[in-house]
Amino acid sequence: MFDYKAAFQNAVDQVQKEGRYRVFADLKRVRGQFPKAVRRREDGSEQDVVVWCSNDYLGMGQHPVVLEAMQAAIDEAGAGAGGTRNISGTTRWAVDLEAELADWHHKEAALLFTSGYVANEATLTTLQRIMPGLIVFSDSLNHASMIAGIRNGGCERHIFAHNDLEHLEALLQAAPADAPKLIAFESVYSMDGDIADLHGTIALAQKYGAMTYLDEVHAVGLYGERGAGVAERDGVLDQIDIIECTLGKAVGVMGGYIAADAVIIDAVRSWAAGFIFTTSLPPALTAGALASVRHLKGAADLRAAHQERAETLKARFAEAGIPVLPSVSHIVPVHVGDPVHCKMISDMLLEDFGVYVQPINYPTVPKGTERLRFTPSPNHDDGMMDALVAAMDKLWTHCNVARMPKAA
Ligand code: PMP
Repeated sequence: MFDYKAAFQNAVDQVQKEGRYRVFADLKRVRGQFPKAVRRREDGSEQDVVVWCSNDYLGMGQHPVVLEAMQAAIDEAGAGAGGTRNISGTTRWAVDLEAELADWHHKEAALLFTSGYVANEATLTTLQRIMPGLIVFSDSLNHASMIAGIRNGGCERHIFAHNDLEHLEALLQAAPADAPKLIAFESVYSMDGDIADLHGTIALAQKYGAMTYLDEVHAVGLYGERGAGVAERDGVLDQIDIIECTLGKAVGVMGGYIAADAVIIDAVRSWAAGFIFTTSLPPALTAGALASVRHLKGAADLRAAHQERAETLKARFAEAGIPVLPSVSHIVPVHVGDPVHCKMISDMLLEDFGVYVQPINYPTVPKGTERLRFTPSPNHDDGMMDALVAAMDKLWTHCNVARMPKAA
């Protein structure tokens, strides 16, 4: 008979052999203390740590306006939404949040999903069902959820080299002029911290009659005058057809959404299995996200503080000869270049210095580009930065990892 246990063991062994086996840090975030947290070790003992790799980029997950809104929603409406959107699960907060999100992105409508992952997977699959024969042009570094949605739709797809508009144009040119086309890309790429050329991509979309689908998961809340993302910063909100975002990073809660013309939202709402057949987000989450988005619209000072912290950390690392990859965003990736040292430095930072930053290894990034990815927030103060840079300096020497020439 089939050995089921062995099949699972083989699967785990394979991941271990490829160096992809993940160990999770067991963390307790402490209310109001972000970015401090308490880590529980395997033996049950506890350690105070500073988290340097959170995607709660602005600390909104601990912000009083968000916490109060979540608590009030529980007091008023209880825990769960009680059903799918179609069957009793459309709560007042979900409706209000969708209106708020549409307004944020200057779109006619928005649609909530369980997460950003589900929003990408469900929408990209559905667009191919709505437009059979759609040809999808996808950036080579697009997130796994976009890749899953594009693949599941089953239509013809072409991968263009990352942020390479010449390659994208060559692929668009080779496709039939009258075929429906979709360019799927991100604004801020989360592992390198680079930002797509939105104007250039939109120009190509217009020239070749393609729709644009932009993932702003790592930009929403952080860029633009009202925090609506890079499309707002670059003045092109009305020229992107579908914007996809998360409520789990800068917004600080959980959930995902798309924003677009009303007819696009109506069609996706009516066709997307990942929207239709699942329980809707609970009132506490949608109420918390609603309060957060309202706050973020007027939080230019928080965004400025966030950028300042990121630029300061890049400069501090550079002064110490720590090799920061050339990021133009709030993401501070530090090149290590091999998985063993990457894991070792991350382990020692945690155990010896109370600094928590997850190693980023293959297949998340290509082999030879293993890195530590720091995401400073406005709550990371100078003392925390001093301690981090000193710890990194020591470990770079200890592990004999290559340095950049020190700045004069
Ligand atoms: N898109 C990108 C670019 C992401 O990095 C992520 C998550 N890390 C997602 C989508 C999925 O968002 P969520 O975490 O809300 O599922």
